[in-house]
Amino acid sequence: MKNNLLIGIIAFLIFSSSYSVLLCAEDALNERESLTAALWQQTSSEYRALCYQAFNVAYDRIQMDLMKEWPKPRSVIVDLDETVIFNAKYNATDVIREQEYPKEFYEWIASGDATLIPGAGEFLKFIDKEGYAIFYVTNRRDECTDITLQQIIDLDLPQADSEHLLMRGSDDTKQGRRDKVGEDHSVILYIGDNCVDFLGDYYNESIEERKNITDSLHTEWGRKFIILPNPLHGSWKKALYHGLDKWLSGDENLHYKASLLEIVE
Ligand SMILES: [Mg+2]
Repeated sequence: MKNNLLIGIIAFLIFSSSYSVLLCAEDALNERESLTAALWQQTSSEYRALCYQAFNVAYDRIQMDLMKEWPKPRSVIVDLDETVIFNAKYNATDVIREQEYPKEFYEWIASGDATLIPGAGEFLKFIDKEGYAIFYVTNRRDECTDITLQQIIDLDLPQADSEHLLMRGSDDTKQGRRDKVGEDHSVILYIGDNCVDFLGDYYNESIEERKNITDSLHTEWGRKFIILPNPLHGSWKKALYHGLDKWLSGDENLHYKASLLEIVE
């Protein structure tokens, strides 16, 4: 009897320790996923370098464009979050507090703590001086129009007024707003951190289809389309679940995401 009890205790200890090792491994995976992305965005010089690179390319494209003639007034369309406005502190808060956008995002906008993406302010002031119309096309919800407008004014961005700030409305893909700008302007550059900032066709597409669209546009990147890095969020994350008809939670979600990776056989 005593022996059976001892064997039972040993078996329980072995089972619980291997279970906790398994849980620890999964917790670590879950944490690593966004923690590393937030660290990279907030601490790496590589992130900053890519931002400067994007706006240097944009600057060079404008210098070339200034030698051309266009039938309509020139304009540049830019996204806001993670393109012009640097939300790394908010993004990291989401990771540390295990909360998800849009929780506390409006408070973050109103806090005045956000800064500019490296290179963005200088570039926008340059094209403003050269006479380009700037349209801030954001998918922030309409209810934060006033605080968004105040934010871009406070960040000293040029053309920060309601005519140049185009909020989401029902235009999830942004294509409607881009087309509208294109009716009266020659759009020289599109700048964003999400492929939906360039073409509405990306919206709600699969991973493969998104890659196909990107390949079909290969001559536009760095020329008409200037893209900035964002490892934390964007429509690429939604594409991971394209075609899935159920919501995955916890470990199931983690295993599903791991299954999407190709690894060495
Ligand atoms: Mg963005």
